[in-house]
Amino acid sequence: MAVPKRKTSPSRAGMRRSHQALPTQANAECANCGELKRPHHVCSHCGHYDGREVVAAGKALRGAVRA
Ligand SMILES: [Zn+2]
Repeated sequence: MAVPKRKTSPSRAGMRRSHQALPTQANAECANCGELKRPHHVCSHCGHYDGREVVAAGKALRGAVRA
């Protein structure tokens, strides 16, 4: 089995992990209810998109959008 020749220094481990940061989540305010929602997605709170109710409020969104 291949074995590393040297112990990974804390500096080198930090350099490797500099790419592992989580991306910031984009938020947009729902025009209908004001709740924070993902941009270009149906509001998970009121079910509105583009000024009209697409999914009944309170219903689960999974499967309902593409069905
Ligand atoms: Zn909403």
